[in-house]
Amino acid sequence: MRRKLVAGNWKMNGSLSANGGLLADILAGLGDVTCEVVACPPFPYLAQAQAMLSASPVGLGAQTLSEHPAGAFTGEVGAEMLREFGCRYVLVGHSERRSLFGESDAVVAAKLAAALAVGLVPVLCLGETLAEREAGQTEAVVSRQLQAVLDRVGVAALSGGVLAYEPVWAIGTGLTATPAQAQAVHAHIRACLAAHDAAVAAEVRILYGGSVKPQNAQELFGQQDIDGGLIGGASLVAEDFLAICRAA
Ligand code: PGA
Repeated sequence: MRRKLVAGNWKMNGSLSANGGLLADILAGLGDVTCEVVACPPFPYLAQAQAMLSASPVGLGAQTLSEHPAGAFTGEVGAEMLREFGCRYVLVGHSERRSLFGESDAVVAAKLAAALAVGLVPVLCLGETLAEREAGQTEAVVSRQLQAVLDRVGVAALSGGVLAYEPVWAIGTGLTATPAQAQAVHAHIRACLAAHDAAVAAEVRILYGGSVKPQNAQELFGQQDIDGGLIGGASLVAEDFLAICRAA
């Protein structure tokens, strides 16, 4: 049985006062939530979130990391630093990192390896653009993105890991993949893993991300291969985020 996971990707949003209120409201509303819950604030707020969450069941994650362990990399943040601030998870290869910050499949694989090296659980994001979907390349694109990581770290390294299928055209657009569209890609991703190792494929959690809302979460999370969600915009509103958590 894969325990459902709902992670909030705050992106570059928040402030000390807004985060304090959001986290307090989330903590106060967890009573009937059974899934695993994770918050991924921007780097400067990790310490604040660590202080508020460390005695709670809500886990902490970062939104990216450097592929380098330490050294002369101005502006970068390393995996060991994230661990020191209580992170258990780190997003790797989010489509905004790929498209806006030029992260190639090889860089994404290197970042994932850096996370694993210190015991962080990477949440590897995969997904196609609208043009790729319309060209019938969805499966080929997510396969390529996944294979770059498998080539680098091997399938066993993903044991107990987390993937996220996030169609780029659904992120922040209000367009959601239909449950059937999402399930088809999730099943494809799991089949790619199973071709390497059936046991790993069976246990890896695959989250769906892209305009998940309280109104669509339950049907998405009810699909056989959808093990929770990676939530952007709706994770900034405690009531919406909690409703999504309750749907998982
Ligand atoms: P969204 O973002 O929920 O705002 O579409 C999801 C994500 O980018 O992780």
